[in-house]
Amino acid sequence: MKTLCESLNKMPRSGIRVIMDLASGMDDVIHMELGEPGFQTPDHIKEAACKAIHDGFTKYTANNGLLSLREACLGKIQRDGGQVGIQQIGIAPGSVFALAQAMMAVTNPGDEVLLSDPGWPNYYMQTIAMERTPVFYPLREENGFEPMMEDLEPLITPRTRVMIINTPSNPTGGVYSQKTIEKLVEFAKKHDIYILSDEVYDKIVFDGEHHSPLNIDPNGHVISIYGVSKAYAMTGWRVGYYSAPTEVAPQMNKILEPYVSCASAVSQKAAEAALNGPQDCIGTMVEAYRERRDLVMDKLQQEGFEFSRPKGAFYLMANISKAGMDSYTFAKELLKATGVATAPGLTFGQDSDKFIRFSFCADTEQIREGINRFCTFYN
Ligand code: PLP
Repeated sequence: MKTLCESLNKMPRSGIRVIMDLASGMDDVIHMELGEPGFQTPDHIKEAACKAIHDGFTKYTANNGLLSLREACLGKIQRDGGQVGIQQIGIAPGSVFALAQAMMAVTNPGDEVLLSDPGWPNYYMQTIAMERTPVFYPLREENGFEPMMEDLEPLITPRTRVMIINTPSNPTGGVYSQKTIEKLVEFAKKHDIYILSDEVYDKIVFDGEHHSPLNIDPNGHVISIYGVSKAYAMTGWRVGYYSAPTEVAPQMNKILEPYVSCASAVSQKAAEAALNGPQDCIGTMVEAYRERRDLVMDKLQQEGFEFSRPKGAFYLMANISKAGMDSYTFAKELLKATGVATAPGLTFGQDSDKFIRFSFCADTEQIREGINRFCTFYN
């Protein structure tokens, strides 16, 4: 008898991709649904990739990546204050797969995973696909979208294994304070669970600074995930990296062989050039994102919208409750009427149906036009 996988049937699609698919084939679309940097990968990185092809980096690498890239990742993590060792570092085909590797490495079917609401939909999707049990903790606007200990403590059960955190955050733009990070590490130690810390936006901060739990607990309860996609405009190259405790890293490495073997060798050399090369390209892009954020905020403020000020990443959640539509209907109607693609709040969590999420990393003129069209539609 033919069957299809039940857990995959239960896994929802990301609402971001639902809107993106609807937009494909439409003319004159302004893409504010995807976290796709509106920049080309810097030239020195592209050139390193071309050189890598000519130098013969066209073969399999070790499962956990080229040693030279792992060393570059180690250097970056250490410069940022993480006292970790090379045996803790691994390379993944995109940071989203590093997250899956970590989930597979430290949980079993039925185990509970603490997830934020709102949060990036892929965490929930992975949890369902792997038959783990999602347990949601709230992030409230009035707390700057930071987790509160009094919300977390009652959620712990004997089956809790891991808590996923994401700072700077997609979709809220929240950046957790050092105090919050310290409390989260204490919480993880007290209950002997892992923190799976998604830090792919660590370099994209506008207000305050990024704090990593890895800097407090480098080889105990923290698995930190990083990427090159966002910081260096390298989404299509598919490289991510991580630091995991010494008992976890080999398990994460082991999973790569049956699923993907390794990340692309050429992309790994490009990522190495990104991490070892000049870093001013990040500053230039972050300044442009800051301008785009301010442009969106100024316009929304002028028009009297409620929204929360993003401190990092490149997303903004705007309150659309006065439109009298759920967020999926709103996003679809907005797209149909104006060609502006946005992400429906509900895809980020049950309590987020009153929001839509704008991504403000596309080209400035596109952002200006998109936000103007949105305001005209709403009013
Ligand atoms: N984590 C978060 C919070 C993201 O928003 C994204 C991409 O949008 C990723 C991870 C995935 O990044 P990568 O391209 O490295 O897989």
